[in-house]
Amino acid sequence: MACDDQRPTWDEYFLMLAKLAATRSTCLAFPVGAVIVKNKQVVATGYNGSPSGSAHCTTQGYCYPGLSSCDASKTLPSRAVHAEANAIAQAAKHGISTDGASIYVTLEPCLSCLKLIISAGIKEVFYETAFNAGEKALVRDSFVNEGLVILKQVKLSESTAKRATDLFLLFSTSVVGSDMLQIR
Ligand SMILES: [Zn+2]
Ligand SMILES: [Zn+2]
Repeated sequence: MACDDQRPTWDEYFLMLAKLAATRSTCLAFPVGAVIVKNKQVVATGYNGSPSGSAHCTTQGYCYPGLSSCDASKTLPSRAVHAEANAIAQAAKHGISTDGASIYVTLEPCLSCLKLIISAGIKEVFYETAFNAGEKALVRDSFVNEGLVILKQVKLSESTAKRATDLFLLFSTSVVGSDMLQIR
């Protein structure tokens, strides 16, 4: 077998980038990362966190005083800008078109983000973890059935995850003389 057999698929590649973006999340609710991709090129990234310039939930140690999570209150709106919204905002800020793009997210978009994704012209959503249930799933499915957006769950294969961790994340990459691409 050729040694490039172990390379991640495009879906795995962009999902891994979304996972890395999630490591920068600043909200205590949960880490989420997003990557907008057009023609196999990353055009913007985002993660779950308070608006630019606002105190991070992780720095404060709470989202709101007495609230451990931005999603814990029924009345207070979340402080966090969701990863997908941050990625779309980043593209807008830099004048990059998202029309016809795809988005990779570590968590299935909430309905607010899904509406934003559709209005931003993003056609495909690849997510790792399912999120919407019940009536929210019905609304999501109506968008899908209207042909507004395609949603697909994607997973990282264990071998790709292990290879990325053991050979690239845990140790220095691109070390001269190493034979990391040949290791099985
Ligand atoms: Zn928060
Ligand atoms: Zn959202």
